[in-house]
Amino acid sequence: MQKIEQLISDSEETVQRIRWSKKGKPAEPVVVFFAGIHGNEPAGLQAVDRVAKIIEREEIELKGSVYAVTGNIEALRMGVRFLDTDLNRMWESFGMNPLGGEYSSNGNHSLSSEQRESLEIRVAIESILNEHGRKRSDFIFTDLHTTSSQSCAFILLNDTLANRELARKFPVPQILGIEENIHGTLLSYINNLGYKAIGFEAGAHTDEASIDRSEAFFWLLLYYNRMIDLPGQKVTEYENRIRSGQGIPDSYYEILYHKPVENPEKFQMITGFQNFDPIEKDEPLAYEYDQLLRAPASGRIFMPLYQKVGQDGYLIIHEVSAFWLELSAYLRRSFVHSLLRFMPGVSVVDDQSYQVDINVARFFVKEIFHLLGYRVLKKDQNTLICYKR
Ligand SMILES: [Zn+2]
Repeated sequence: MQKIEQLISDSEETVQRIRWSKKGKPAEPVVVFFAGIHGNEPAGLQAVDRVAKIIEREEIELKGSVYAVTGNIEALRMGVRFLDTDLNRMWESFGMNPLGGEYSSNGNHSLSSEQRESLEIRVAIESILNEHGRKRSDFIFTDLHTTSSQSCAFILLNDTLANRELARKFPVPQILGIEENIHGTLLSYINNLGYKAIGFEAGAHTDEASIDRSEAFFWLLLYYNRMIDLPGQKVTEYENRIRSGQGIPDSYYEILYHKPVENPEKFQMITGFQNFDPIEKDEPLAYEYDQLLRAPASGRIFMPLYQKVGQDGYLIIHEVSAFWLELSAYLRRSFVHSLLRFMPGVSVVDDQSYQVDINVARFFVKEIFHLLGYRVLKKDQNTLICYKR
């Protein structure tokens, strides 16, 4: 099997891939911004370019290093979400078998456009990690996106304590546990490498304000991470820029329901839903193959699909209580993990995961494992697999 570096013929591409960087001293923190992972979401790139220009022009000193990494270069050129496959759904297999079967054949010929892009991004990530000593606490990775519906800004995170601590500084809604519903994201890949990673969704694709919010997020992240000094007035201005202002609490939300879509051509969201709009159980939401789809639960609609591309129709989310969050933070640091194996229906797979027979362990299985920081996936009708995050 070839090394990934050899699969990418010219190293020029890697240089282009890293769109901008500014290096601080060794042992200082490192922040990496990904932008344009979806080619029809250029707002993040425009924001990154804007900040880079200001930092260069005003010769702003940073206490740390910053990198901006371009996402789907080909798709960005064409203004489409992706060419062959979604670049933000293909990172799962990297965790187990870095190159997968498909990559092992001769050279580049068998690579799809996004496989090639993802390998180049991976090389960029590795080069950044190597350059700065790979220490987990030093790095923050973020991924800048926009949505097809109108939306306030929000943060997506895999529910680890380190991610929570980072994300909660921003006055926007925070959605936990996205990785259980949407698989193979770049954020999950980075989390699995052991580094903090959060996603920032700035608003609608075409909304000018999405660029402004992405920019504010950029400055605030550097500020919260103590890499830059900002006057209090500026901090307030940036925080106000990303705050929802539509009565949507900037608390934590979890996902109640996810509607996957096989053929986006045959899926039609009912018009008028904005991200985070409250919905009632049984409320009509969409049509798929001319069948009406109703909400299986009350909550808030999340990421309704208003474009004819993508595999996620909509999600339903609801607020998580502060008590639950604190309890889970406490328990995750405790010895309670070691008791899980004694629960009825629970068997140990390895030191990171359990298998649960839901015919035996009927009640609150998901809740208990979530509380303790596990990712819960359905293996089949009767079985759950719970991985430690
Ligand atoms: Zn996106």
